Amino acid sequence: MKNYKLLTPGPLTTTDTVKEEMLFDHCTWDDDYKKITQQIREELLDLAHVDHEIYTVVLMQGSGTFGVESVLSSVIGEDDKLLIAANGAYGERMEDIARHNQLSYTAYHEHYDRMPSAGKIEEYLREDPSITHVAMVHSETTSGILNDIASVAEVVKRAGKIFIVDAMSSFGGVDIEVQKLGIDYLVSSANKCIQGVPGFSFIICNRADLIASAGKARSLSLDLYDQWKTMHVDGKWRFTSPTHVVLAFAQALRELKKEGGIPAREKRYRENNQLLIEKMEELGIRPYIDAAHQGPIITTFFYPDRHDFSFQEMYDYIKERGYAIYPGKVTQADTFRIGNIGEVYQEDILKLADILKEFFAEH
Ligand SMILES: *Cc1c(COP(=O)(O)O)cnc(C)c1O
Repeated sequence: MKNYKLLTPGPLTTTDTVKEEMLFDHCTWDDDYKKITQQIREELLDLAHVDHEIYTVVLMQGSGTFGVESVLSSVIGEDDKLLIAANGAYGERMEDIARHNQLSYTAYHEHYDRMPSAGKIEEYLREDPSITHVAMVHSETTSGILNDIASVAEVVKRAGKIFIVDAMSSFGGVDIEVQKLGIDYLVSSANKCIQGVPGFSFIICNRADLIASAGKARSLSLDLYDQWKTMHVDGKWRFTSPTHVVLAFAQALRELKKEGGIPAREKRYRENNQLLIEKMEELGIRPYIDAAHQGPIITTFFYPDRHDFSFQEMYDYIKERGYAIYPGKVTQADTFRIGNIGEVYQEDILKLADILKEFFAEH
């Protein structure tokens, strides 16, 4: 099969050295393996800028959604109520999770091209004192908007509520002061900005609140507290762990450090993103999100005003020349998406721009 680079928001293109780690079949019960898990957990807490006594971290088998469902179904009890602020498909997925688990919840919907407002969230909390938890997405991968979690954290903390953030497509690519902001649960996964391969999610947790949630989980395999109780002792996973993925992730963390940590990675992603938008504008292609709210991870673009090609035709043309892009996901407009995270550099953006220029000239 012809190889290509992924300009998609995860799975994304990883380094050969990350992939090579998966050539080893590691035993799960020996100390070496458990040490790798513990090392990963320590490093994730450092990347989140949290005190290791006040916070802890749980690794959970499955994709990112499993991590979000693990939190929502484990820490929101019978007498609790969740407010979900949604401005895209991933916020709406949290509502779906809430319904499947029969959680008591209410939803505040915002347009896909606008950020949830801290003021409106404050109103919801004032009008409904039974709300105990607030959940939102940081980087809404649906549109590429980067939501303002800091201003929301302020009102959530002032009201004394628990704050849950889906930072799936931002953690590792955008620096997040988890403790300073007062985020109680932050969810991300192996195959996004840390640049590992898919197979597990991780949850940075306020330790006291996690311990208080013991016994509340609605599912066995996604029980966040039980997973932590086993893993916390010595790094053992409760059920079979994705060993190859764990080894690749440990290598991805080493490579993140070598790149210069999150600030250096964030800079690369931001520069990729700015160059992408500039080059697309030269071709007459406009982004869906305005510059002030556009995040550095993925960009939604409108199709050119008059065009007679399908997404599939454009996708095939680009793939044939070495890159894979994403269809649009916003419901209100006809769009496509281009991610700029993973092993992606300015030269890739320039190549893609040339490919698209040719494609538009031919169509
Ligand atoms: C990728 C992603 C998820 C998780 O999706 P999975 O398909 O389960 O990995 C959740 N939220 C956001 C914002 C994402 O980008």
